[in-house]
This record gives sequence, structure tokens and C-alpha cells, in this order.
Amino acid sequence: MPMHRISTEEKIIHIQGHPVKLQKKNMKSLRLRLIPPHGEIRVSVPSWYSDKEAAQFVLSRWEWIMKQKKTIKAVHPLTQQNYNNGDTILFLGEPYTITIIETSRPGPPQIKGDQIIIEEKANSLPHQRKQKIESWYRTKMKDMMDSLITYWADKMGVEPQEWKIRKMNTRWGSCNTVSRRIWLNLELITMKPEILEYVLVHELAHLLERGHNKQFKSLMDRFLPSWRSLNIELRGGLPL
Ligand SMILES: [Zn+2]
Repeated sequence: MPMHRISTEEKIIHIQGHPVKLQKKNMKSLRLRLIPPHGEIRVSVPSWYSDKEAAQFVLSRWEWIMKQKKTIKAVHPLTQQNYNNGDTILFLGEPYTITIIETSRPGPPQIKGDQIIIEEKANSLPHQRKQKIESWYRTKMKDMMDSLITYWADKMGVEPQEWKIRKMNTRWGSCNTVSRRIWLNLELITMKPEILEYVLVHELAHLLERGHNKQFKSLMDRFLPSWRSLNIELRGGLPL
């Protein structure tokens, strides 16, 4: 376990090949956190703790840490993306190269071959481009969902009261079974349509069965037999 000293209270220790920022503080409790966007591991321990004791504490939570790290990474392709000329973005599982065109009267983004054409005014700002692309994503996803929800609600015999597309960091989707409200993560529009459909069917199935129990799984088997392999493809370890 090599150690690089930063200051008397703070240093980097290596655990299982990962750097961990160790802080010794005048405190009584232990604190373990992963810091976005890269999931830096940070542990704070009481000042009387030895490095070895701190490392043992981190190791005891290692499985949880690795799970959290995966989640943090999985969320960021959309939310942390910079949209520069020549960058690649994903739409329905396919990559498109951003091509920026300056014009005095910009229209909405357009797919042409393997490019996505973004028209903008000469003095526009990066956050405006981000907004433009995300609102385009949202419109495309809303159009798709409208017809998918109608189809699946009818097929499954459920009546969702309301549904929304949201930017979410911790879930792919959610279903409030009392208000019958479904939320879907905007990030899903970057994945192939079958995966979007799978998450939707999963959330709709909660209107028939709240938990992820045996009965829920047999509902999924009945409505979408391919759901198990789609679940593996759904990147990242976020719940739904
Ligand atoms: Zn669920």
C-alpha cells in the first residue's frame, strides 16, 4: 500500500489499485463518499485512526464503492457532455457527428446520414447549444413515447395517469403506483429503441405489481420475453 503525503491531515492511499483520499479530522464518525463526476473515493476518519484502520474501513465497504463508481460513470454521457463541432453523440443507439453551421436564422437540429447538423448564430454560447440538443432529444423522445405508451398501456391493460421525461442522475425510470405517474430518464433516448421500450414496459408493469418479485418477472416474461437480455444491455447499474 504505497502512500504519498499531501499534508498532515490529508493524503492519498492506494487500495486495490485505486487512489483513495484519506482525511483525518477532529471528528468522531467515519465518512465515505464518492465525488462526481469521476467518482473519486474520499474517506474521512477521526484523527486518532491509523492509516491501516482507515484502509480496513474502506475495504469493508469495497463492494458498495465499486457499485457506486459504476453508477456515477454511467450517468454522465448525457449530463456532462460537451457538444463541440466534430464530437460524437448518441441517438437511439447510433453515433452521429456534430456538424455546426453558422446561420442568421437557425432551425432545429437535423440528422443527415451519420451527421447531426446544428445551425446556430455566430455569437451563440456553448450552453445554448447544449439546451438546443437536449430539447431536440426531449422532443424526439416525447414523440416516440406518445405512441409507445398508447400501444403498451392498451396491450397490458393499464392506465397511467401522467408521464414525464426528466433528467435524472439516480434512476432510469420510476413509477408512482398511487398517482400512476411514470418518469423516464432523458438519457434513454441515447440508447437503442428496444431499451427505451423495455424501461417503459418495466415501469408500466409496476401498475400491475409494485415490487420486483416473482410475479413482476413473470409479467415481464409475458409482455416482453427479451427483457432479460435488454436489462444486461442497459448500461450502468441504475435502478428502474
Ligand atoms: Zn422497478
